[in-house]
Amino acid sequence: MGPPPPRPSAGVTETGSKSTSAGSLSTSAGRIARAEALKEVTLGARNSGSSHDRERQWSFEDFDIGRPLGKGKFGNVYLARERRSKYIVALKVLFKTQLETSSVEHQLRREVEIQSHLRHPNILRMYGYFYDETKVFLILEYAAKGELYKELQRVHHFDERMTATYVASLAKALMYCHSKHVIHRDIKPENLLLGLNGELKIADFGWSVHAPHSRRKTLCGTLDYLPPEMVQGEDHDASVDIWSLGVLCYEFLFGTPPFEAQGHTETYKRILRVDLKFPDYIPVSPGARDLMRKLLRRDPKQRLPLKMVLQHPWILGQADDTILKGP
Ligand code: ATP
Ligand code: MG
Repeated sequence: MGPPPPRPSAGVTETGSKSTSAGSLSTSAGRIARAEALKEVTLGARNSGSSHDRERQWSFEDFDIGRPLGKGKFGNVYLARERRSKYIVALKVLFKTQLETSSVEHQLRREVEIQSHLRHPNILRMYGYFYDETKVFLILEYAAKGELYKELQRVHHFDERMTATYVASLAKALMYCHSKHVIHRDIKPENLLLGLNGELKIADFGWSVHAPHSRRKTLCGTLDYLPPEMVQGEDHDASVDIWSLGVLCYEFLFGTPPFEAQGHTETYKRILRVDLKFPDYIPVSPGARDLMRKLLRRDPKQRLPLKMVLQHPWILGQADDTILKGP
């Protein structure tokens, strides 16, 4: 494949601010300055086709490679350190041949185009990318505590405080995405990573699009998280992410997604019927149930707006204050 996105991105705007702490010698300020320097690098002159000639072109030689962090579908992710700034990142390596075989070059371009322009504490940063003859490298923010999915498997289900905090973080991140006309469309535990302080980071924008979106032939996303309108192949909009937030809230509290069934057909049926049942093996408060019912509505227009999610009594009572007060 050729280089990732040289196209302008409609709806997504560049919001990066200039670093003001350059030249500082104090350790922490210096570290921030270096971090900002790396964050400031956008997709690069050669790729953007604009006049940002001073912008840095990254290459493999700029990084020291550390331990593998995980295995993806098209390659591996490694801990890495930018040599000059010593800034720690995650370097995702994708093999071009595998991307071509699966015809996902277009999807990767969109992922890079969208994710590299988003700036939110609960969205994994993409600092840039580069490529060689055989591979594409994505420079990503390092999520020190790894996959949220693994944590969920380890503890089986989260308590209400934890769940409300995650749901509030997600609502904030999704509000930000939607304000930039980006719909994620693939919100599920596997696509959520955790930062050093356990803060949630949405990763994996492979299925995201610029809103609004007309009907698609292909079904994207994992079955369990698909809203009825996408199961039906109808037009969909940003409220698909509100549905997924409801599914996620349920899976966090109960350990299994709400419409789980034996086969695909059965899962589809349960989603279309909104066959929502709350098992009694885990006591879940009326407030949490109320929120889930308000998110999991068949009619997209009836789903509780994200702004209202943040004002829901259960969220206000349970979620971490720093999330509720933060950006
Ligand atoms: P899949 O779709 O099968 O999950 P993928 O190609 O999307 O694969 P990723 O999920 O991005 O690949 O990465 C694979 C694994 O590497 C993740 O599950 C996670 O454990 C780890 N990983 C990826 N990115 C980061 C990161 N920024 N920080 C820490 N760990 C990461
Ligand atoms: Mg993934």
